[in-house]
This record gives sequence, C-alpha cells and structure tokens, in this order.
Amino acid sequence: MSTTTDAIRTADAHSAHTYHPLPVVVASADGAWMTDVEGRRYLDMLAGYSALNFGHGNRRLIDAARAQLERVTLTSRAFHHDRFAAFCAELAALCGKEMVLPMNTGAEAVETAVKTARKWGYEVKGVPDGHAKIVVAADNFHGRTTTIVSFSTDHDARDHFGPYTPGFEIVPYGDLTALAHAVTENTVAVLLEPIQGEAGVLVPPAGYLSGVRELTRERNVLFMADEIQSGLGRTGRTFACEHEGVVPDVYILGKALGGGVVPVSAVVADRDVLGVFKPGQHGSTFGGNPLACAVGLEVVAMLRTGEFQQRATELGDHLHRELGLLVGGGAVTAVRGRGLWAGVDIEPSRGTGREISEKLMELGVLVKDTHGSTIRLAPPLVISKEDLDWGLDQLRSVLGA
Ligand SMILES: *Cc1c(COP(=O)(O)O)cnc(C)c1O
Repeated sequence: MSTTTDAIRTADAHSAHTYHPLPVVVASADGAWMTDVEGRRYLDMLAGYSALNFGHGNRRLIDAARAQLERVTLTSRAFHHDRFAAFCAELAALCGKEMVLPMNTGAEAVETAVKTARKWGYEVKGVPDGHAKIVVAADNFHGRTTTIVSFSTDHDARDHFGPYTPGFEIVPYGDLTALAHAVTENTVAVLLEPIQGEAGVLVPPAGYLSGVRELTRERNVLFMADEIQSGLGRTGRTFACEHEGVVPDVYILGKALGGGVVPVSAVVADRDVLGVFKPGQHGSTFGGNPLACAVGLEVVAMLRTGEFQQRATELGDHLHRELGLLVGGGAVTAVRGRGLWAGVDIEPSRGTGREISEKLMELGVLVKDTHGSTIRLAPPLVISKEDLDWGLDQLRSVLGA
C-alpha cells in the first residue's frame, strides 16, 4: 500500500469525517507550491481559503515567528507582554480605527462581533434588554459555532445542531430593499461578507455596500463587515469594502492575519463601539498571545507597503481576463470575483466541481469545489505570473477548453 493510501485510511479511521479532502497528503510547502509524501509537487490555488495570502513558509513571517518562539509564546492576558501594544496599535491604524479585540479563529471573531453589537445596542443605542436583532444575508458563511450556524441557510452547516440562537434576521444578499425592510428600532447591526466566499465568490451588485453603509448610518445600526476571507489583500485592496469606498463600523478579521502560521483573528472598531467591554466581560486564553501578536504585527507591516494589494490587482486582472475568455465556450458558464479570487461555474456536462478538482490534482494543481458545480481559485498573492499561467493551462486542459 502506498504512503498516501495508508495515511488516508488511518485518517478516515481516526478522525471525524467533517471534511471530504482531495486524496493528497502534503508533507511540505514553499511559496505557492506543496509537495506530497511521495514527492509530487502541486500548485496551491486555494491558499488555505486565503489564510495563506503570503504563501507557504514566507521568510519574513517565519523569521518573526522563530524569533518570538525563542523569547516568549504565551502569557495569558493576566499580564501585559511586549508585543501586544504594538500589534493592537498597528492593526488599528491599518484599519483606520481606534481599538482592537484580538481572538484566535474567525468564528470567535464573529462571535465577538455579535456580542459587541448586542452590548452596544443595549448600552449605547438603548434597545430593551434581550431584544437586539442582527440582520444577516442568506448563503452567508461566518463560521461553525452553535450561534453562527443558527443564522446559516446551509442545511449541512445547520441541520440537527439546534436549538438555535435567536436574534437574527436573514435577508437575500445584494437586496437593499429587503435589508431596509428588515431593519427595525431593535436592530443593532447588519453583518455581511463584502464578497461571499463560500457561496461561490459572490460579488454583490454595484452600490450595495455603499447602500448598506448609508442605511446603517441613517438608522443608527452598526455595519459589521466579515472580511475574514475577503480582506488583507486578497481582492487587490486591504479590505474588499474599499472597492465601494465603504468604511464599516466593525471589521472582522482572521485567516491571513495569522500569516498561515498561527490562528489570529480580531474585531477592529472605534472606541465608541469596542469601549463597551469592561474587564471580565469577554476574553480568550490564547487571544493576543505573544506569538500571535509577533506574526500579526509582521502581517500588518507587510500590508502597509501595498505590495501585496498591488500584486493581487495586477495578477487578478490577468486571472479574470483569462477566465473571462472561457465563459460561453461550452466549459464555463460564469466567472465572478475580484483580485486574485475567482468563483468559476463549470458547465455541468464537463463534470462536477469535485471531479474537476480531482482531475486538476492529477495534473498538479490543488483547488477546491464549492456548491456542486463551482470551483474557487484563490492562489497565494506571492504566486508568480508564470505559475499562475501554468495553473490556468491545466484548468483549460481539464475543461477541454
Ligand atoms: C473562514 C471564515 C470564517 C470562519 O473562520 P474560522 O477561522 O474557520 O473559524 C468566518 N467568516 C468567513 C467569511 C470565512 O471565510
């Protein structure tokens, strides 16, 4: 039996089947490339769902992590540590906000934002206790906790995990009229992905995000943007909201904030919002730990140069130009996205998204399907144009295009 089959059999026997991974067993990685246990190389066109925006083994991030590993890795928030202040101040500055509340995973940051909005609603806006409502969009993906799946519309994510947390109103994504109708005097926040990732890289209609901004400002409701996947350079801007000149009240960040090294997430907002928390009202043993802060600080420094946003813009324009040529040719029905991020709808007769992903794997390209007939392309922003073109060649070959 091969090392690959063996590893997969053991994983199947001893891990809960919450994922359906492609049959590749990765042993090492560098930049945009991964190598499996048998020495085969693959171009990573998923980048850990955007957690690896800066590529595998990024020198600056590994050096920052290694230096911190040698000094101190965990203190708990019972004490200050010497990386915390700089991380919070620099991340707040990157966001143009005043305060940061660091957590670990994306779902925790979303939970933190939900708690922030409710507390703000009761203590600042004056909503009667226990009546706060948060408006969310259909087909959202915000994570996997019991509260978050309570407002999911995906049956796999939600079914048989009730009883569900109340206090959420679901409206169609991209529909400003529906959103306006859903907002009442008890609404404390609108929580949205500026581009819906898991839904298939859905870009809302032009004017939607700025419309949400205007509506929430008028109605004294927080606009909370889940930029966990769309943010930190992926779309060619630091935040996807920037494409419409929109500044939300609350940024929810994760994935690439940890540089693909450690889980780092955060809620970022001004003092009039995050200032609602007092000691003991929220926390996390690992949130804001020295290792996380050292890596996060380096991520922020890298984003401040604009270099990665620039790459995502230029390579993204190229990617979308090339993918656009495939639309209508019988293999691809639609392409969506911004920057180095694309959802590609495959003509069903050419195979399911899963089948296309498996064939691409055979040719040395790793992608992941989403929702049946869509594949998502999100290579690391450090990918070279040559590698990107090679990946696109493999895609054309699999599609017979
Ligand atoms: C991945 C993701 C999350 C959840 O992050 P985890 O780190 O997996 O908990 C939340 N929102 C969006 C938009 C995501 O892409």
